[in-house]
Amino acid sequence: LISRKWRVEPTRIDIGDGVVIGEGSFSIMAGPCSIESEQQIQLVVDHLKANDVKIMRGGVFKPRSSPYAFRGLGLEGLQMFYRICRENGIKIITEVMQVSQIKEMIDYVDVFQVGARNSQNFNLLDSLGEAQKPVLLKRGISGTLEELLQAAEYIFSNGNEKIMLCERGIRSYENAYRNVLDLNAVPVLKAKTHLPVIVDPSHGIGLRAYVEEMSLAAVMAGADGVIYETHQKPEEAFSDGQQTLNFQESERLVKRMRQTYQLR
Ligand code: PEP
Ligand code: MN
Repeated sequence: LISRKWRVEPTRIDIGDGVVIGEGSFSIMAGPCSIESEQQIQLVVDHLKANDVKIMRGGVFKPRSSPYAFRGLGLEGLQMFYRICRENGIKIITEVMQVSQIKEMIDYVDVFQVGARNSQNFNLLDSLGEAQKPVLLKRGISGTLEELLQAAEYIFSNGNEKIMLCERGIRSYENAYRNVLDLNAVPVLKAKTHLPVIVDPSHGIGLRAYVEEMSLAAVMAGADGVIYETHQKPEEAFSDGQQTLNFQESERLVKRMRQTYQLR
């Protein structure tokens, strides 16, 4: 169902208030790795508004390698995130980690993110297929494109066609950076499926200094958008500070991606 053979026209996903994701426009989603406080949300929202970015990312349920690391503010954090974004006309994308969270989160979310670690959580995918809410599905940490496409098929075949695929870097033997952003995936996925393809350059390389270059490369590779991490003080971020842009870097990136998109 997600194949270009079955549907030739690209899928465009309307997330409300004229915000549409898919071929024909370039979508920018930005925000902290984790939602941390009311003040932080407000600072990020102001930064996004100043740069005409319409979608804010931020996790409240965080998959962390260590159980002792910050695991997010949970549902209360999401409600605060939602309230501030609604007041400011910003859409929300945030990660859902398990089936039981869908019901409690759904009224406070515009796009559900399925993280790399849950890319093949088939029960979660089935349930997101039944929920009529857009989903950004990340590629597994060691996932093949075929596995990503099959995971999307789980959601689609359950009746939810509002799916975007996300390349977020894969694990390799290289340890000079966190992951290897596989930009090959962009044109290959675009050829295989009608779904929008989004790139996450922050997790993709994992080092702040190179996020800009890889984002611009993603634009030229044909991505329909990016999702990246930004924070008012990346050095103090509760998670993923090393790959998070400050607002100055983020502003520059947004401008350069828009210029680059015009060249496509
Ligand atoms: C995130 O977006 O902060 C995240 C945890 O991403 P991933 O699932 O790609 O590691
Ligand atoms: Mn992160």
